[in-house]
Amino acid sequence: MPYKTTIGLEIHVELKTKAKMFCDCKNDPDEKEPNRNVCPICLGHPGTLPVINREAVRRVVKTGLALNCKIPEYSKFDRKNYFYPDLPKGYQISQYDQPFCLKGYLKIDKKKIGITRVHLEEDTGKLIHAQNEDYSLVDFNRAGIPLMELVTEPDINSAKEARQFAEELQMILRYLGVSDADMEKGQMRVEVNISLNKGEKKLGTKVEIKNLNSFRSVERGIDFEIKRQTDFLESGKNIVQETRGWDDNKGITVSQREKEEAQDYRYLPEPDLPMHHFKTTDALDNIRAEIPELPQGKRERFKKEYAIDEKNIEVLVQNRELGEYFEKTMSEFSNWLKEEGNKKENFSKIAKFCTNYLITDLQGLLAGDKIDDKDFIITPENFAEYITLIYQGKISSKIAKMVLAEMYKSGADPSQIIEEKGWAQIEDYGEVEKIIQEVISQNNKAVEDFKKGKENAFQFLIGQIMAKSRGKAHPEIVREILKKTLTKT
Ligand SMILES: [Zn+2]
Repeated sequence: MPYKTTIGLEIHVELKTKAKMFCDCKNDPDEKEPNRNVCPICLGHPGTLPVINREAVRRVVKTGLALNCKIPEYSKFDRKNYFYPDLPKGYQISQYDQPFCLKGYLKIDKKKIGITRVHLEEDTGKLIHAQNEDYSLVDFNRAGIPLMELVTEPDINSAKEARQFAEELQMILRYLGVSDADMEKGQMRVEVNISLNKGEKKLGTKVEIKNLNSFRSVERGIDFEIKRQTDFLESGKNIVQETRGWDDNKGITVSQREKEEAQDYRYLPEPDLPMHHFKTTDALDNIRAEIPELPQGKRERFKKEYAIDEKNIEVLVQNRELGEYFEKTMSEFSNWLKEEGNKKENFSKIAKFCTNYLITDLQGLLAGDKIDDKDFIITPENFAEYITLIYQGKISSKIAKMVLAEMYKSGADPSQIIEEKGWAQIEDYGEVEKIIQEVISQNNKAVEDFKKGKENAFQFLIGQIMAKSRGKAHPEIVREILKKTLTKT
């Protein structure tokens, strides 16, 4: 394919604040009753005055700092004028030439994707089109909710890269606690600007895709548009600069309208709000100090500290609470490992056991619930003890599953469960031998098969012995005694 794809993203994010952007109305994305959280300010009544929500500003600046942006000393709000029934004032308070954050980047794998700006504005209301009626309804609960807009440089070159960027950004926003960024709920909305050219400096005609409500639709929408534009260009037609909507059911983009230029909005400085000024660097440093370890930092640290594989690291980074639980569990081992001579290989072996049981077995029991729910009662201390029992070969993997299920139900100590249920491994040679003798006497054919040289007969007998002991016989001892017994007779 001779065409090069160039993509820039515009991402809107509803901030998680108590109140709306310029009034005291509740910012409640779950409010079901229409027009409940409204007041004269967010309804745009004449004579009202907006007041800046400082928490929203902090959150935008925090995001900007986390994305390596420069935070200018001065920034201001502007009016973006346009008419639409969901916009009560007839203009939206936004930021134009002096936003809060400029010129940052986010790394995807090893590639830096430039971030042009991050600014703050207010969300609009919602229109509800009554079916088969000649009217529409409007709900202003969302009007005035703080909305952050992030614009990237056209540094993205594929659908997969765009998706990765959006996913990584969502994770960062959640780590920062600035937004839940749930795409299905419209808390994070991605718009794509895409153009094709033959690699020359001048970019091709830009098409915007809207209505992308999931990461999957971001990827599919871009792939569709690459194909559509390629076919167009190859048949000698020109691309029209326009906005297209993604139809997820049909899997196509549909023309919506031709694109407005910035001058159509007649931006002007918002006269009712003061210019924002960071008087000292302390204010910025305070916000910077609130930034926790971010996903990329965590990936690198987990790799270095625990030497676990990348796939598991990704699970622990994406499920932040699971990662925190893992670290709490690992810290329980520090004394025990010291007694064992503090070998690095022991530590990483334990870490591997721990991640495997966390990610497969425990997540299986959780069945989609979160590990930080109050219903979850296994303490990291008990989980560490459980891992130790497995590590030391005190319980088989079959018993381990049963113990974990019990712990999940009762929160009890694993050693106590094993004792109460009589699940301790049988390590007594005499006892194992007794079980083996019973199995041999009941399986003459398999014994003969083994003597004729059929190796799988041996495996069959092991299986029978383990079943008879209900998984409790120590596998190595079983192997050892069975081999001796069979070769002797
Ligand atoms: Zn209000």
